[in-house]
Amino acid sequence: MTHAKWAEFKQRVGEIHDLNAASGVLSWDLETMMPAKGADNRAQQLSTLSALSHRLMTDEAMGALLKTLRKDAAKLSAVEAALVREVGREFDRATKLPEALVQQMSEITAKAHALWVEARQKQDFKLFEPVLSQIVTLNQQMADCLGYEGSPYNALMDLYEPGLTTQTVDAVFGAIKPHLVQLVSGITQSKSSPERSFLHTKSSLDKQWQFSIQVLTAMGFDFEGGRMDKAPHPFCTGAQGDVRLTTRLFEEDLVSSLFSSMHEAGHGLYEQGVSPDLTRTPLSEGTSLGIHESQSRMWENLVGRSRPFWGHFYPRLKAMFPKQLNRVSVERFYKAINVVQPSFIRVESDEVTYNLHILLRYELERDIIEGKLKVKDIPKAWNAKMTELLGITPTNDAQGCLQDIHWAHGSFGYFPTYTLGNLYASQFFHTAQQAMPSLTTHIQRGNLAPLRAWLQEQIHQYGKQYTPDELVQRVTGESLNPQYFIDYLWQKFGGLYGVTPPVAVKKLVKHR
Ligand code: MG
Repeated sequence: MTHAKWAEFKQRVGEIHDLNAASGVLSWDLETMMPAKGADNRAQQLSTLSALSHRLMTDEAMGALLKTLRKDAAKLSAVEAALVREVGREFDRATKLPEALVQQMSEITAKAHALWVEARQKQDFKLFEPVLSQIVTLNQQMADCLGYEGSPYNALMDLYEPGLTTQTVDAVFGAIKPHLVQLVSGITQSKSSPERSFLHTKSSLDKQWQFSIQVLTAMGFDFEGGRMDKAPHPFCTGAQGDVRLTTRLFEEDLVSSLFSSMHEAGHGLYEQGVSPDLTRTPLSEGTSLGIHESQSRMWENLVGRSRPFWGHFYPRLKAMFPKQLNRVSVERFYKAINVVQPSFIRVESDEVTYNLHILLRYELERDIIEGKLKVKDIPKAWNAKMTELLGITPTNDAQGCLQDIHWAHGSFGYFPTYTLGNLYASQFFHTAQQAMPSLTTHIQRGNLAPLRAWLQEQIHQYGKQYTPDELVQRVTGESLNPQYFIDYLWQKFGGLYGVTPPVAVKKLVKHR
């Protein structure tokens, strides 16, 4: 391999990266700033950019370069080899997917967004059903083009979490489901229902916003290399130097925007923490959605909903919202932000019931892609599963199968990464606590810098250099282990609600 060939490879990779980044900014704009009448033109722009990117990636010259580089892999540095591996993965994927299919998906999903919004507003699945049927068919065609072993759903999950299979997801849910069900039923029977009406009185949106900015600053989010705006659906996009977060604010909910801001900032810190050496390459992003979600969940839940965090931040929140919180002790507040209660909406659900929402989506999506569940039967199947897993039945589709944006985006196979994220978060946080015995004390003092520094050193700087499993092994010394999450849930929520774990889980397993 000559120096010139490597330079040409990097040049091509950079151009593709630029096109994808431009699509990212246009998509961000579509969900934050764009006037409604811009939708049709925007669909065209995104479709053109994605076609161009696809064309560059599948160019014969790119194929030839990759062939040479793969042959010479032994001569490459670790980072170079990782870049060839990732570009190779994208090349294989792109050459397997016909350009027409990619373009169709891009056009249909750009239109689907508006239809989904309308259907949700009118609580009428029928308005969304035709376009969703098209999206499902395109996903099934994609799975066929990509190839798979076992379930076609594996081909789709692999897009978000490399190598993830229904076998692994079944094993993960097999391990955690009995605990979730036991804990939920113990909590429901405990009759302890913490009061939280003080969180739902009118509170200033400006002050909520200011408080979130204060916390994000303490987390180390760099506002010169990123920004936060308002959108109906919180998300994080962009990469180092320009990381865009969104949040949504409700007058009648004092803390929900804080937690969604912390969540997205957890994603944002990951992006901001990637080594500058990896910029303008596919390695400059997080390694997978599951690992990405571990960062957001850690900040949102293991930090943001923890008792130590509020030791420092509660007096500050109280000073900002005296009318709402004057008579509320930090203990009552802590209980109120950790109420466990079966509810309809995934993004508003608590840490215990959350993964049951994911289990529901996983089983439905798998059946839809495998052709076992028809699109028209989704509302019925959704409601039946909800009743089975959480004991409650949605009264309309907005409360049920229309609540998530993912299908309108064309994404099937994405949901399981949320549960993986929760599991990885507990495993990483356990390791961080072992590595830094004073971590809890730091958090109690509002000093979030040591955790951020540890995450950057252990995880963020590497971007996509390691595969998810390589990274987890490097950081924690073992592969994904659901036991950390199970222990965490029992300790925190068993304690809060006075629910005792069954004997089998009482003894903490020795992990390492
Ligand atoms: Mg997230």
